[in-house]
Amino acid sequence: MATCQNCNYKWTKKSIWKLGFSKNGAICTNCGQKQFISFETKILMTLVDLLPIVGVVALFLYPWYVKLSNFEEGK
Ligand SMILES: [Zn+2]
Repeated sequence: MATCQNCNYKWTKKSIWKLGFSKNGAICTNCGQKQFISFETKILMTLVDLLPIVGVVALFLYPWYVKLSNFEEGK
């Protein structure tokens, strides 16, 4: 499960989903630090886009494999 890179707080599935739909990152509910989806997760999500069958499974597992970052990466 994704943890905040600033305070190591474990994000709830709901917060992670919110972050997934936000291009500008999301605030950690524990420390207030803005977190972004890490570059490697973005690459993974791009691969998922190319393989729709994998995508359905990946979408379901998304809160478990997503990693957070203190910075907006790979812009
Ligand atoms: Zn935090």
